[in-house]
Amino acid sequence: MVDLVGQYEARKSEFDAAISSVIHQAAFINGPEVDAFQKELETYLGVKHVIPCANGTDALTIALWALNLEPGSEVITTDFTFIATAEAIARVGLTPVLVDINPNTYTIDAKQIEQAISPRTKAIMPVHLFGQAANMNTIMDIAERHNLYVIEDCAQCFGASYTIKGKPKKLGTIGTIGCTSFFPSKNLGCFGDGGAIFTNNSELATTIKKIANHGSIKKYYHSIIGVNSRLDGIQAAILRVKLKYIDTYNASRLQAAQWYNQRLQNISWITIPQLEPYSTHVYHQYTILLQNIINTDLQAFLQTYGIPSMIYYPVSMHKQEALQIYNPQQCPYSDFASQHVLSLPMHTELTESQVDYICKCISQYKQ
Ligand SMILES: *Cc1c(COP(=O)(O)O)cnc(C)c1O
Repeated sequence: MVDLVGQYEARKSEFDAAISSVIHQAAFINGPEVDAFQKELETYLGVKHVIPCANGTDALTIALWALNLEPGSEVITTDFTFIATAEAIARVGLTPVLVDINPNTYTIDAKQIEQAISPRTKAIMPVHLFGQAANMNTIMDIAERHNLYVIEDCAQCFGASYTIKGKPKKLGTIGTIGCTSFFPSKNLGCFGDGGAIFTNNSELATTIKKIANHGSIKKYYHSIIGVNSRLDGIQAAILRVKLKYIDTYNASRLQAAQWYNQRLQNISWITIPQLEPYSTHVYHQYTILLQNIINTDLQAFLQTYGIPSMIYYPVSMHKQEALQIYNPQQCPYSDFASQHVLSLPMHTELTESQVDYICKCISQYKQ
């Protein structure tokens, strides 16, 4: 599915030098690499504040925690995502309200958000799934009219941009707070766990920084209860190398997606990824939708040729046992997607001949 060793080998000397330098400085926790990465990320994103943290789930949790909402307040999010999104909401004592997806983009159906708003609704948490944005124009409009916070889950869209009010912006800098993950397989991934929180709101940035650091800004003075959530020096050094090449990496993904598109677009039972005009797509996943075929059947067929594929996600959120206490509503499009989407190998080292082989095998599938 991914080739992280190949990506490392392609710039081995740079990665090795970055790691070695942290070891020689013994700056394992915080230190100059983390500070430099934070500033470079702020510049890349065009955002005032970046707060690095331990992983993407912490980023979402700390972002919600910083809003200081009354327990039981509702946060509207998508039914079709990784559990971390809904989990972060529940973890800080808030109520996840799950909304069905737009079947073309697999992101939250912005039209259904308004119906899910109650007097207890305080925030919307869109997920920019597979590398493409949720409909932020509509979401920001609803948020403004109902006075809601917007927390963007950017774990899968690093580097994507979005045109809002005629201006291109990086995803994660449009809502109140953006959160990302540097899990190794993400578009900007490190060699372990990592995450970051972005915001243009200086007051929230201070609270977020505090929460991630034991409730403290000044060492040994703790004004609130927080957690220990930090990015380590070696990961920051690796991320600084990868951040330099992120646009090149995303361009390689786009190229691979185009190779797939050319070969799959004329297969009648496959829908290739649908693009929305407002957003670029950074293809965290290349995900096809199958007509009249269950994804596990094609997956098993491809397995016989040694081709890996993944189902993101086989169980939608409203069907998760852990979330039943919130009485989630039915989400038919997300259920349909969970049985009909299939993600194909997608990474920066994919070659045209590999894509060609994968597509030839797919085209041989007999319905
Ligand atoms: C990966 C991911 C997360 C969680 O990130 P971790 O770093 O693994 O904690 C959250 N949301 C989405 C949509 C993800 O894909």
